[in-house]
Amino acid sequence: MYAEYLEQLRESLQKLEEWRSRYGDFTPHQTVQADTGRIGEVLDRMMERLQGNYPFHHPIYAGQMLKPPHPIAWMAYTLAMTINPNNHALDGGPPTSKMEKETVHQLAGMLGLQDEYMGHLTGGGTMANLEALWVARHEHPGRGIAFSDQAHYTHGRMGELLQLPTYNVESDVYGRMLPERLNELKDRVGTVVVTMGTTGLGSVDPLDDIMEWARKNGIRVHVDAAYGGFFKLLEGDAEFPGSRHWARIPEADSLVIDPHKHGLQPYGCGCILFSDPRVGAYYKHDSPYTYFSSEELHLGEISLECSRAGASAAGLWATLQLLPLSENEGFGPLLRACRNAAVSLYSMVKESDRYRPVQKPELDILGYFPVPFIGEFSTSNISDWSKWIFEEGMNREEEGFYASLFQMDAQKLARLHPDLEIDTDRVTVLRSVLMKPEHENFAADLYRRLEEVHQACVERF
Ligand SMILES: *Cc1c(COP(=O)(O)O)cnc(C)c1O
Repeated sequence: MYAEYLEQLRESLQKLEEWRSRYGDFTPHQTVQADTGRIGEVLDRMMERLQGNYPFHHPIYAGQMLKPPHPIAWMAYTLAMTINPNNHALDGGPPTSKMEKETVHQLAGMLGLQDEYMGHLTGGGTMANLEALWVARHEHPGRGIAFSDQAHYTHGRMGELLQLPTYNVESDVYGRMLPERLNELKDRVGTVVVTMGTTGLGSVDPLDDIMEWARKNGIRVHVDAAYGGFFKLLEGDAEFPGSRHWARIPEADSLVIDPHKHGLQPYGCGCILFSDPRVGAYYKHDSPYTYFSSEELHLGEISLECSRAGASAAGLWATLQLLPLSENEGFGPLLRACRNAAVSLYSMVKESDRYRPVQKPELDILGYFPVPFIGEFSTSNISDWSKWIFEEGMNREEEGFYASLFQMDAQKLARLHPDLEIDTDRVTVLRSVLMKPEHENFAADLYRRLEEVHQACVERF
């Protein structure tokens, strides 16, 4: 699966070796010299340890938001990493800094931003969100930040870090922010975080309505599309829900998208975009180490982080050369396959007497829960059954699968399933993140495994 690329990797590595040798040969210092036998020994031991992972590469794994990067991404990353450029400043790696600008421009284009924007890659979504909220504080000093009760947990933390009050806005039964709840906060809040694809069940906040309200009240809009951002490519699809919300993304003041989630990249690749490049003024610094050798913008001048892997930019750049950010080529069909997988698993679950879907997926994440064949149809019992199914699926020798557990408000679930008896505040359900395009053809197989595991739980009593 991956070894077939070794020849290409070796050839490319050889080209870099030729470039390196142009500067003349030298002997590595004895302190860092290692013979290949010793290296092999250490790597062998590590290969043993790495096999303690779950099979993230395989479609039987639909648990957390995890999958290996595209081969071109890890090859490009690996090759660039042997040089180890630092995109903190242009001098730290001129070619990868240029690649970063090009890829950021492609991401901005996909999201519909105008040419006037400012942005860069980050270590991840959390850093990118921090940066957006840090700018938000400069723009509205002392005013708080609102986000829904389904927003990523790091927003609360970042509010603490920035010493800004944060406000939790209730979400509806589908996990989307209730825009009418914002009104009571309008004198206290400077920025509202709109999540386009929650980490839990991929719910999409009603950006169209929130944008109307925010513009009327002079409030900033930050879109957290760390997970969902790439789904912008499906906005034109007839059956894609919420197009009117996706259409307003370009009006956001700031935007976060994670290439290391749906962009086929290794971890360490997030992205922040600001629609108004003038916010760059807040970053002014005069580090004594930064020698500004060109008139051009230094990425380090507009980033909270200092050192950043140039290899990340190389990985993303190479991937986007191969797979364009286009509706009908490259990423569009990939995202469409993931969403098809979730919708098809949803249909199978909905038809079944062994499971019920929490709700129809907006993106490619499905929430569902087992119908207990033994015991009450109550929130406590379905929580137990969810945990049994989760464990049984993962511990099977054969025909197993990997899902994840998700906790939600019991009242909300019961509003969608009125025959459910509420005897707990929270309820644990199953969750499958179908973020690999291979899931499209594997959904029926996954469902069959779910049925078998349900039956195994029935028989265990
Ligand atoms: C994953 C995620 C984050 C955090 O991003 P990291 O890259 O894990 O730091 C923030 N918001 C949302 C909606 C996410 O899905």
